[in-house]
Amino acid sequence: EMFGQLTSGLESAWNKLKGEEVLTKENIVEPMRDIRRALLEADVSLPVVRRFVQDVSEQAVGVGVIRGVRPDQQLVKIVSEELVKLMGGEVSELTFAKSGPTVILLAGLQGVGKTTVSAKLALYLKKQGKSCMLIAGDVYRPAAIDQLVILGKQVDVPVYAAGTDVKPAEIARQGLQEAKKKNVDVVIMDTAGRLQIDKTMMEELKDVKRTLNPTEVLLVVDAMTGQEAAALVTTFNVEIGITGAILTKLDGDSRGGAALSVKEVSGKPIKLVGRGERMEDLEPFYPDRMAGRILGMGDVLSFVEKAQEVMRQEDAEDLQKKIMSAKFDFNDFLKQTRAVARMGSMSRVLGMIPGMGKVTPAQIREAEKSLLIMEAMIEVMTPEEREKPELLAESPARRKRIAQESGKTEQQVSQLVAQLFQMRVRMKNLMGVMEGGSVPALSN
Ligand code: GDP
Repeated sequence: EMFGQLTSGLESAWNKLKGEEVLTKENIVEPMRDIRRALLEADVSLPVVRRFVQDVSEQAVGVGVIRGVRPDQQLVKIVSEELVKLMGGEVSELTFAKSGPTVILLAGLQGVGKTTVSAKLALYLKKQGKSCMLIAGDVYRPAAIDQLVILGKQVDVPVYAAGTDVKPAEIARQGLQEAKKKNVDVVIMDTAGRLQIDKTMMEELKDVKRTLNPTEVLLVVDAMTGQEAAALVTTFNVEIGITGAILTKLDGDSRGGAALSVKEVSGKPIKLVGRGERMEDLEPFYPDRMAGRILGMGDVLSFVEKAQEVMRQEDAEDLQKKIMSAKFDFNDFLKQTRAVARMGSMSRVLGMIPGMGKVTPAQIREAEKSLLIMEAMIEVMTPEEREKPELLAESPARRKRIAQESGKTEQQVSQLVAQLFQMRVRMKNLMGVMEGGSVPALSN
């Protein structure tokens, strides 16, 4: 599981809040210590961790109580939002040239997956309907040129190669000329990777960059290298000026430090991520999905969101008054069940994301089905019947009519009426008003 260790490290933070009623300055001390430790163990850089912990703490203490939401769930929500922010908020799209070919220059140290990414990126863009060409610029490793030619064949994209005796900037010039002649939409240039940054490498890159005037300069970094990846992005940006990063090997047991640090440390976004060795394994970097995966709590997030929304939407006081005076009727019933159903479909969306969501599709289908049945019956009720459920409890004739008009059985109608009264009782009990809360027996 990606970031498994980070996920379980954070879990211990939520667990420390079980049994608490509100978030306070005092009771978040321990959970925040866990969060700090989990992030440091995930190899997130220290200044980033410090700032993160401070931001989360401030918000946690200031957050209001939401009816029905536990403090640990609220903290999960705050951490999730801050994680998304940390990773840049929105997805950062690739930029394309307005006229002429879009040029993407790839840089990176040896072994990070740069050659593989070149071909993956060509395939990714091809799928978006763009014609591509690759330029083989790793003149120090003949094997790298061969590899790119092979991968190019595999994804059916032409590769411009000029051997190892030509300077990279000259290869770039010739390649670009060829691309313009062929009228391709996107040119992707793979450059030499060294084992470490050296002066020659940077100078060559600068030359290539001047020659190509690229739309995107992307540094390929390996997720396994943690905060070191973020430091590299910073260095390359200062030295040659880049537009973003591509994070590879996110499928391995990387700890999360790179994904969480790159944007904050370097100011440059991660634009794409590699998640496997297959050519198809390249995708945009979605900060919100990444945060969701790290937390592994899709259901909690959507629940808190929905509770916030429901609280905003409904007039809470009005509902409370209705419950106190036992006026909770079929109209309210419908509103409530629909709110719950919306939560259901929300968790289905989140449930599609691997490792998220604990609501099973079967449960959701079941809930949606019974909502449809209830709606059908409530729809054929008269306004008076909706407001005075007693009318239905007292009259088998009315229940029979509703059954006939809605195409349901009389038993289903009786169930619905009983359910409403049970709900009234449950709510009255919740509000601490015990008297008068009995479920009437339906007269036959
Ligand atoms: P380069 O030296 O930077 O050009 O690196 P290569 O493209 O030759 O890749 C080095 C190794 O990493 C190869 O074995 C690739 O299959 C592997 N690799 C590249 N990207 C990924 C990735 O996203 N996930 C995994 N698991 N392996 C990758």
